[in-house]
Amino acid sequence: MPSPFVTRLASFQHSDWLAVEDDARSRTFAELWDRAQRVRLALTEGAPSLEGRAVAILVSPGALWLEAFLGTILAGGVALPLSPLYPPAELAWFGEDARAAAVIVSEDQRERGALLCEGRRVLFAETLADGPRPEGDAAPLEADDVALLLYTSGTTGKPKGAMITHANVDVQAAILREAWAFGEGDRLLHALPLHHLHGLGISLLTTLLAGASARLLPRFDARRVWEAFCGPNPPTVWMAVPTMYQKLFEAFDQADEQTRARWASGARGLRLATSGSAALPATLAERWRAVTGVIPLERFGMTEIGVGATNPLDPLGRRPGSVGLPPRSVEARIVDEAGNELERGPGELWIRGPSVFKGYLGREQATQDAFAEGRWFRTGDVAERAEDGYLRLLGRTSVDILKSGGYKLSALEIEEALRENAAVAEVAVVGLPDEAWGERVVAVVVAAPGRAAECAPEVLRGWAKERIAPYKVPREVIVTTSLPRNALGKVVKPDLVKAILQGTVANTSRT
Ligand code: ATP
Ligand code: MG
Repeated sequence: MPSPFVTRLASFQHSDWLAVEDDARSRTFAELWDRAQRVRLALTEGAPSLEGRAVAILVSPGALWLEAFLGTILAGGVALPLSPLYPPAELAWFGEDARAAAVIVSEDQRERGALLCEGRRVLFAETLADGPRPEGDAAPLEADDVALLLYTSGTTGKPKGAMITHANVDVQAAILREAWAFGEGDRLLHALPLHHLHGLGISLLTTLLAGASARLLPRFDARRVWEAFCGPNPPTVWMAVPTMYQKLFEAFDQADEQTRARWASGARGLRLATSGSAALPATLAERWRAVTGVIPLERFGMTEIGVGATNPLDPLGRRPGSVGLPPRSVEARIVDEAGNELERGPGELWIRGPSVFKGYLGREQATQDAFAEGRWFRTGDVAERAEDGYLRLLGRTSVDILKSGGYKLSALEIEEALRENAAVAEVAVVGLPDEAWGERVVAVVVAAPGRAAECAPEVLRGWAKERIAPYKVPREVIVTTSLPRNALGKVVKPDLVKAILQGTVANTSRT
C-alpha cells in the first residue's frame, strides 16, 4: 500500500492556502510541496541512496525546517529531528545511535553540529531548495516504511529511537483530525520542540494533514505567545505542555492590568487549547478556565503510540484530572502484574492499534520487552478507568509508583495535593531507598516567588496530612531552587534521585 501520509500531503500540492509561516518566511501548500521536491532532488542526485537511512535535521524551527523534513521523507529517508538545544556531544550520540547517513544543518547550528556532521554527508538548509525541481515522481513509498525516527523524551532513562511508519503518521493525524475537528480554517500557534512526538506528530503534522496552517515560533516565550493570541490572523489552536501554561501565567501575573485584559481577550478567541506530555496540574487548568472560560483539553500520548487518550472537544465533556477516552482506533486495556485484564484498575495500561510504532531502532530486546502477546504495547504507565471509560493516569511504574511500607503510592496524587498550596510553584515526589519502608516518600518543592517561608517542611507535611492518607504524606520535604527538567518540561526523576543521594540538591529549607 502506498504511503497514505505522502498521498494526503500530495493532495494539497496545488493549493495556495497558507501551510507554514515563521518570523521570516511563509509558504503555501503548493510552495512547500515544490520546495520539498527540490530538497528531495538535492538529497538523492548523484549520491548514495538514502532509502531507509536516517537523515539528521538540525535546523531551527521554521519553514526551512519543514522543507528539510518533508524533502527527506520524499527522498525515502528517515527523518531524524534533533534539538537545536542539545549540546554538541549529545547531538553526536544521536547521530551515532541512529546511524545517520547525512545531516541537514542551518547556518546558526553549524558550530553546534560540527561533531555530528563529522564523517557524514552535510547539506545546508538555507540553500537546499534552491536547485531544480525533479522531473518525474519519486520512488513510491510504502505505508509500512519508516518515516521518522523519534527519540523518547528520556524521562525515565536514556532516550530510545522509535521507528514510526508512514501509516503511523497518517493514522495519528487522522485520529486527531476527527477528535478535534481540525480543518482547513485552523491556524496553529506552535512553540513546542520539533524533535518529540508532541511538537511534531500531534501538533505540526496533524495541522498540515488537515490542510490547516502553522505559525512556528523560534522558541517558547510566554509574552510572545500571549501577544500572538492577540495579533492579526490570531491562532485558532494552541498546543502546550503543562510547564508552558505555568510560564504563561507567570508572565500574566507580571503584566499590568490593561495588558492582562488584552491577553485574556486574545486567548478567549482560541477554538482549542490543549495540554499533554505530562499531567496537567488542576490549578493550571482552573486558571486557564478562569481566564478563557473553558478548561484546556488534556490528552495523553507517547512517542511509541501516538495518541492514547483524549478528552472530548466539547468542553462540557472534559474532565479535569483525566486524560479522557481512547480514540476509536485505539484499544486500551488495563492489566495486573500477571497481565490479566482488569475492568477498572489501577494497573498497567496496554495499547494496541494502527498508530503503534514498529520498534526501537537497534534495540531488539527493548522492542521485544515492550510488546506483550498480540502486539499489545506495554506503556509502563499505571491507569485507572472510571465507570464511563475515562482514564486517569497515576504515573509510571518505574518512577512514579512508589512502594512504601507495603503500600503502592502514586507520586502524581501526592504532587497534586501539595500543588494545591499556592505557595508551592513546583513539586516532584520521589521514592528513596529505605531499609524500613522499602521506599521513603520524599517531596522536592520549589516555592512560589517570595513564599519560601510558607514552604517550610513541617508546614507542607501538615498541609499534606489534611489532604491525603497518613501513609502517603512525604516523610521528608526538600525545598530547592529548581527541578531537573527535559525539553518537554518533564521532571527527570532518576536525575533528581541521584542528586538527592549525592547531596547535590540545593536544600534551601536547611539554610
Ligand atoms: P522515556 O520513555 O525516554 O522515559 P517519555 O516516556 O517521557 O520518556 P514520551 O514518549 O515523550 O517520552 O512521553 C510519554 C509519556 O509521557 C507517557 O508514557 C506518560 O507517562 C507521559 N504523559 C503524556 N501525556 C500525559 C498526561 N496527559 N498526563 C500524564 N502523563 C502523561
Ligand atoms: Mg516512555
